[in-house]
Amino acid sequence: MAYGKYEGVIGLEVHAHLLTKSKIFCGSSAEFGAEPNSHTCPTCMGLPGALPVLNKKVVDFAIKAGLATGCRVNKKSIFARKNYYYPDLPKGYQISQYEEPICTDGHVDVFQNGGKKRIGLTRIHMEEDAGKLVHEGTIETSTYSLVDFNRSSVPLIEIVSEPDMRTPEEAILYLKMLRDILMYLEICDGNMEEGSFRCDANVSVRKIGDPNLGTRAELKNLNSFRSIERALDHEIRRQIEVVEGGGEVVQETRLYSVPEDITYSMRGKEEAHDYRYFPDPDLVPLLIDEGWVEEIRAGLPELPIEKVERFMNQYGLPRYDSEVLTSERALADYFEETVALFGEAKMVSNWIMSELMRELKTGNVSPKAAPMRPVQLAELLTLVKDGVISGKIGKEIFPEVYAQGISPKRFIQEKGLVQISDEGALSEAVERVIAQNQKEVAEFKAGKEKLLGFFVGQVMKETKGKGNPKLVNELLLARLKGQ
Ligand SMILES: [Zn+2]
Repeated sequence: MAYGKYEGVIGLEVHAHLLTKSKIFCGSSAEFGAEPNSHTCPTCMGLPGALPVLNKKVVDFAIKAGLATGCRVNKKSIFARKNYYYPDLPKGYQISQYEEPICTDGHVDVFQNGGKKRIGLTRIHMEEDAGKLVHEGTIETSTYSLVDFNRSSVPLIEIVSEPDMRTPEEAILYLKMLRDILMYLEICDGNMEEGSFRCDANVSVRKIGDPNLGTRAELKNLNSFRSIERALDHEIRRQIEVVEGGGEVVQETRLYSVPEDITYSMRGKEEAHDYRYFPDPDLVPLLIDEGWVEEIRAGLPELPIEKVERFMNQYGLPRYDSEVLTSERALADYFEETVALFGEAKMVSNWIMSELMRELKTGNVSPKAAPMRPVQLAELLTLVKDGVISGKIGKEIFPEVYAQGISPKRFIQEKGLVQISDEGALSEAVERVIAQNQKEVAEFKAGKEKLLGFFVGQVMKETKGKGNPKLVNELLLARLKGQ
């Protein structure tokens, strides 16, 4: 999207739920979707005298995220209290990190216009989530509120970017890449509907070339890529209008309404000092030694951007294929396992991107759980490549073979779909077709050679689509030109 002589300046704050079994400061389960208030204990309910104990796994995951985004992992970090009152926050403060976060100064690279763009990360810090208020109907009309503390103290990392994005499209590229990275690391499930990956945006506008930043507004409650892109576009246009009209953008927090497709003011934007941050006296400073960091570094998987480049180099795939196949770690693994068995990377890529991905999408299934395994896909592709079945039949039987998870070889034998490559049988069909179409034969011989396609079609009809197309062509040509 272009904004004339203006550009947007976008910085994003992403909150990602970490996939630990228990919460960040107590032993309660962090699992999503349980009966309200069944995953609670005195600590995450904020009862007097209950003390927090840091979950080591949360630190492991935060270090992982930091290393995968080129951050410095700080040897010492501090937990701080962010003070505010809300009914879903029984302690009256949220335990977060403020002045000394665990990770600082990283980056995320995204592919853009055939090259790469680097988006800076200011920091990554650990914090606890708040509980959740549940209203009957909408918050405006409900006559009561219920509170569910299951989410209270579920571990989060907040990833704060530099204001390095200029358009909503860039913001989406960044968010998708960041989400892929966290999912590759297996520290976040990336589920935006359930709120495990959510985003607030700081947006301002300025004239292109102006080195100064304008006053920013914060957008909250962005929970799908589509709504983020639309909200950002809207907000940038709104601010340009304000500036063009001689007005001033106000620092405030705005909400995006999906049904109305507008942003509206929620409250004046609070400043950090409003929260009266101070180090939490219940938690000692977190000290991380080099050995801990190196142990985690050694276990890091190949990251999405590295995989895209490797797929292009190692398999000779176009960038588009490489990006699609690596969009999910399990899909990339599926591809590589199939290539290891079958060989031809581009053919595997084509079948995965069209046939397999359609089935996965229809059934909302992860590649890991697909009933058709790489060994069966490789078998199917071998049948096509060897001419046992045509590519067309391969695609026709794909949904059924996929759903049943059976051997394609057995499937085509049982259904009698094996391609006819027997010269004798095909010659008989060719003879029948020639005998029945004497007029076309004469025309062909008179020079109308494009009729070959007609004859091939007739022979395929005779063989119920099972004739080996290459052989049918050869036999027809020999017969038609030979006489
Ligand atoms: Zn608890």
